Amino acid sequence: MTTQMATAQIRIPTALRQFAGNQPTFDVTASTVGQALSQLTAEYPDLGNHLYNNEGELRSFVNIYYDEEDIRYLDGQETPLSDGSEITIVPSIAGGAVEIEPLQGTLDGDEIMRYSRHLIMPEVAMGGQEKLKAAKVLLIGAGGLGSPLGLYLAAAGVGTIGMVDADEVDSTNLQRQILYGTSDVGVDKLEAAKNRLTDLNPYVKINEHRVRLTSDNALDILKDYDIVVDGTDNFPTRYLVNDACVILGKPNVYGSIFRFEGQVSVFYAEEGPCYRCLYPEPPPPGLVPSCAEGGVLGVLPGTVGAMQATETVKLILGIGDPLIGRLLRYDALGMEFREFKLRKDPRCPVCGENPTVTELIDYDEFCGFGGDHVEADEALTPEWEISAKELAAARAAGKKPVVIDVREPHEREIGFIPDSTLIPVGDVPARMSELNSADEIVLYCRTGVRSARALETLRSAGFGKLKNLVGGIHAWSDDVDPSIPKY
Ligand SMILES: [Zn+2]
Repeated sequence: MTTQMATAQIRIPTALRQFAGNQPTFDVTASTVGQALSQLTAEYPDLGNHLYNNEGELRSFVNIYYDEEDIRYLDGQETPLSDGSEITIVPSIAGGAVEIEPLQGTLDGDEIMRYSRHLIMPEVAMGGQEKLKAAKVLLIGAGGLGSPLGLYLAAAGVGTIGMVDADEVDSTNLQRQILYGTSDVGVDKLEAAKNRLTDLNPYVKINEHRVRLTSDNALDILKDYDIVVDGTDNFPTRYLVNDACVILGKPNVYGSIFRFEGQVSVFYAEEGPCYRCLYPEPPPPGLVPSCAEGGVLGVLPGTVGAMQATETVKLILGIGDPLIGRLLRYDALGMEFREFKLRKDPRCPVCGENPTVTELIDYDEFCGFGGDHVEADEALTPEWEISAKELAAARAAGKKPVVIDVREPHEREIGFIPDSTLIPVGDVPARMSELNSADEIVLYCRTGVRSARALETLRSAGFGKLKNLVGGIHAWSDDVDPSIPKY
């Protein structure tokens, strides 16, 4: 067997650079990954103690990547080098990653009784419970994910829980947001949440941040917390939370839900990839529907939020293997879990070697939105719009515009505007031949977002006499016919 020598570069992660002369990279000439690493650790023996155990094996929290691939999926340390290749050291597991000073000797007799099931476990015990009491966790969003998160973290004795939310409880929340009851409908979410969580555990301090998280307030709100838990439902806030966590060096316990599917990970740029390493840019607006548009199984946020709560507690206690560098995907329909390895991207615009995002940006603009909760119909000028009252008045006056319902058949079963025809938005391009461009056409959906998209499709195909029903069937229910249910 011949050994071919090659020149390569080893990239050293921020967390380990202090043991490697603060160098971000190290050049080697070697034939295998193992030889290259030996040269590095011969130069910096301290680093060697962090990378290898007493048996000379790579420690379990260290991943070595050869270019884009984990060497465990290649030939391990025997993986041959080729000229110009890169070896990247990625410490993937971070037990004890978040350093929290336990509040020693502060648990009173009632608390000791309350937490007894924790105190008898050696992995938690008194020291762990005192760490939980000292911990400050910020929940972004007090909705589907925020509900189980708030309940379990408060029950577990996390001493300070901050919540960011500016909404009121509405009746469509109750299908999944188990923090609230029917009597809370119309009540400010944080007020209702604080009442419930304080009742659950009066030893927990609840900080209310009754604002929409923005680039102007995010760093100020996040900086006082040890861990940030992302329970948001929109891309601008998700990128904002990610970037703020990278800038502040905080772990971001991520969860997302849609219909029957959930994702969980821990993004912690000090130890592994961030959300942008995974998704450098958001999808264009409208491509990925929100839960409000696409729906979500009511139990799903319970499962995903409970997993986020588990990861949060582990990070505080410094036990187990956190989901750093791993994305867990949960499919409730198939009752299947799959795990994907996540790599830190050296070219990541936020946490990479040469970051281009070093302060918070305008995330609505970055995600292609013009503002908060932007609906596509806001892009339409008034001559393309009609209100529910105007449509009703036109009909009463004997005008009969062609009314097209662009929702899905299962939505039409809930209710529909009389004398309307169903053409789901996805079928509009194929079925536009059924429409006459000489007719006045009114398009509607649930709230006016999809119908605005359908209008654009028809307009670009040459239709000129189009109107979007502003507010959709909800507005029709509010202003014309309350017997049609809203959903
Ligand atoms: Zn990144």
